[in-house]
Amino acid sequence: MKKINLYLLGIAVLTFAVIIYLSFFNLPNYECTENFKVISRNEWKANPPLDTADEISYEMDLLKVLKNIVIHHSAFSGNFGVENIQSYQQDNGFNDIAYHYLISKDGKIFEGRNINIVGAHAGETLEANNLADSIRKHLDAKNIIEAYKLDPDYGSIGVCLDGNFEKEKPTSCQIRSLKKLLSDLMQKYNIDKNNIMLHNEARELLIVQKKLQSVKDETVCPGIFGANAIKKALKEIK
Ligand SMILES: [Zn+2]
Repeated sequence: MKKINLYLLGIAVLTFAVIIYLSFFNLPNYECTENFKVISRNEWKANPPLDTADEISYEMDLLKVLKNIVIHHSAFSGNFGVENIQSYQQDNGFNDIAYHYLISKDGKIFEGRNINIVGAHAGETLEANNLADSIRKHLDAKNIIEAYKLDPDYGSIGVCLDGNFEKEKPTSCQIRSLKKLLSDLMQKYNIDKNNIMLHNEARELLIVQKKLQSVKDETVCPGIFGANAIKKALKEIK
C-alpha cells in the first residue's frame, strides 16, 4: 500500500514539474511557413505612408546604392505583427514602417517600406540633420537626398524579426527565413556579407568609422538572444 502511495506521489510530482516547465520555460511552438515568397504590402493591407512627400526615394539603380543590411528585433514581446508594428511606428513619428522587411514568428516574410525608399532604422547623424535643416531653409527640398547620404540609413536595407530578444530567442522559423532572405538580398543587390550587421553594430560601422556624429544613444537591438542567434545564422550563410 505504502509503495503504491509513493508511486502515485512520484507521478504527481513529475506531472507537476512538467506543467511548470511547459508554462514557464517553453516558448510556444510555431509551425514554420514553407512559403518564403515576400508578402506584399497590398497582400497584408498596409496603411499607405502618412505623407508621400516625406518619402526619400533613391531614384537610381538600387545595385549602385544598396550596400548594407541592418538586422533588428521589433522589441515587442510575442507575435506583435507587421500591422501593429506599422501602426505603432506611424503613431510615433514615422512616416511608414521603419524597415524594408519583417519576419514573423512563423517565418513569414513581409514587405515593409518600399525597397526604393530610404529606411528609418539604422540611426541618425548630426551632420545629416544639420544639412537637411539648411537645405529646407533654402527651400531646396529636392536636394534633401544630399543630407541623407550622411545618414546610416542611406544604402541600408532594414530587416526586422518580430519579438523582444532581450527576453526571448528568435524562433527557428525566423532564423530559417532570415537566412533565405539575406541570401536572396545579397544575390539580388550584390551585397557583401561583411556589410550585413546587427543594429547595435551600425553606429560603429556606419557612423563612427565615417567620422560622423551619432545623435542617438547606443542600442541593444536586436537583443542579447537575437544577437547570438543571428551571428550564428550569418556564419551559415554562403
Ligand atoms: Zn533596431
